[in-house]
Formats: sequence, structure tokens, C-alpha cells
Amino acid sequence: LTQLYRGAQTIGNQYRLCQKNFVDMEKMLDLFKEPIEIQDPPVPAALAPQGGGEVVFDNVSFAYDPRRPVLQNLSFRVEPGETCALVGPSGSGKSTVLRLLFRFYDAPEGGRVLIDGEDIKNLAQKDLRGMIGVVPQDTVLFNETIKYNILYGRPTSTDAEVFAAAEAAQIHDRIMSFPDGYETKVGERGLRLSGGEKQRVAIARTLLKNPKIILLDEATSAVDNAVEAALQSALLTKARTTIVIAHRLSTIVNADQILVIKDGQCVERGTHESLMQMRDSGVYFDMWMKQLKDELGLGGLAKMESVG
Ligand code: ATP
Repeated sequence: LTQLYRGAQTIGNQYRLCQKNFVDMEKMLDLFKEPIEIQDPPVPAALAPQGGGEVVFDNVSFAYDPRRPVLQNLSFRVEPGETCALVGPSGSGKSTVLRLLFRFYDAPEGGRVLIDGEDIKNLAQKDLRGMIGVVPQDTVLFNETIKYNILYGRPTSTDAEVFAAAEAAQIHDRIMSFPDGYETKVGERGLRLSGGEKQRVAIARTLLKNPKIILLDEATSAVDNAVEAALQSALLTKARTTIVIAHRLSTIVNADQILVIKDGQCVERGTHESLMQMRDSGVYFDMWMKQLKDELGLGGLAKMESVG
């Protein structure tokens, strides 16, 4: 009987281990939806200790399928602490830029991606990913407590740090309103959070991680305008470099630099003010016009003057 019990216990342990690994794997695959085929270099380069998170794309070309180029000779530099926004039509390659920076793919077609002057191919993946925080479009939460989900950003954090991150992410009060507070189970088998709540949990997790570089892919698309403004001030600090993909153009008017990506190429770059000057030929200007028309109807056009 004892042997049977031990056997059952071992199977139980293995099952829990598998389940945990499954959740981890599920997270990797679901969050990033990409296969992981990248190898570490035999002797990885050390991270620049004083590096502030400068990001450089140096003439990068990339294709998922060699017959169809996605990025073509893309070059840009984001200074440490700057916010760079990527805008452009659907399918133009914006998310691909973030995937290359996180090194889900290498760009064998040409060019280099550098962080603080180091080609990211020379870094160990755990070092690279340790200094980058990603808030994706669709956040997948672990079937665990909210606290666990936030703590995942930096497991050694204290409760006070978890609460502070949740407050900055505008989700603390909501969590406290649940009967079990931070111990509330979430995910597929727990409390179903709304899209905007999940986004804020993911933002809290990333703020707790406190990386040098944050990549935001439509990270606040499901929250309302007031919450979004508060999130922007928590996220966009000079203490780290931020690259953001936004469809709601109003969220990126304060970006230090806006890159307009079309067919994998950067067709315009500048600040909101400078790009809005290009009234006759500007892709960014046209995107604003279209967004105002869609959101506000023709009356929105009258508001054009105020955003320009
Ligand atoms: P959106 O604004 O709709 O999110 P995007 O500008 O971020 O679009 P990407 O996701 O970078 O665009 O995709 C660029 C192009 O690459 C698209 O044509 C897309 O179909 C293609 N693509 C993206 N991921 C893959 C993949 N894993 N395999 C093959 N093609 C892909």
C-alpha cells in the first residue's frame, strides 16, 4: 500500500511539474506566438554596466519567408530614456521590429540590432531578455493568483513593491475590491479579468521587473482614456527607453520620435509637431485625419486644427 501511495505521489508530483512547465511554455508561446530557434553565442558578451538602454537598428532587412520581404533597410536610433513610437498600416512590420529586438528571430537578410553598442547576437538571451520588458497586445495570465502574476516580473520583490507596481499600473484598487484581494486566482481557471484589467496586470508585472527597455505593443488599447493617461505617465519615464506601437495616435503625441513604417520601410520620422506640418504629403498627417474621421465623424475634421 505504501508503495502504491508513493507511486501515486510521484505521478502527482510529475503531473504538477508538467502542468507548471506547460503553463510556462504556454506563456512563452502565447505571449509571443513565436517558435524559439535562436542559439546563444559560445562566449556571450558581457552587458555594458553603464549602458542606459540605447537601441539601434542599423540597416536591418528581414523576411519570414524569403520570397516576401517584411523589413527593408530599416535604420533608427533610440537614445537612452527616449520614447520612440512606431506607427503605420496593419502588416507594415511594426511588431516585427519588436520581435527582432527581443531576438525571436535573427535578421540574416542583413543589418544589425544593437543595444548599448553591442550586437544583440553577441548577448546571452537571458541577459538580453532580462533587460527588456514586453507588454504585448494580448496578455496571457498564469492560472495562479494575481500576486503571483505580478511577482513574476521580479520574484524577489516585497509585497510593498508589488502593491506599488499595481498602484502605478492603476490596478491596485480593483484588486483590493476582490474578496480575496491579491490572492484571487485568475486565468482560464480563475476569475476572468477584462482585457483592460489583464493589460494593467501585465504592466504592473513589467514595472516590477524595472527593465532598461520597455516594448509596448498596443499595451493600453483596452483601457479608457483617463486610465491610459495615468499609465502613460507611469510607463514613459526618462529612466528607461521605451518603444511603443500604438494605433490610437493620441497616445504617442509626446513621443520623442515617431517612425512611420510602411511596407517595412521608414517613410517618415520626427516628432508629432514636425510630422503634422507635412499636410500635403504626410502619411502621419493622413493617419490622423483618418482616425479623427473614424472616431468623431466629419465633425472631427474641425478638431484637426487643435491637434496640429
Ligand atoms: P499590425 O498593426 O496589424 O499588428 P504590424 O505592422 O505589427 O501589423 P507585423 O506583425 O510586423 O505587422 O507583420 C508584418 C508582415 O509580416 C505581415 O504581412 C504579416 O502577415 C507577416 N508576418 C508576421 N508574422 C509572421 C510569421 N510568423 N510568419 C510569416 N509572416 C508573418
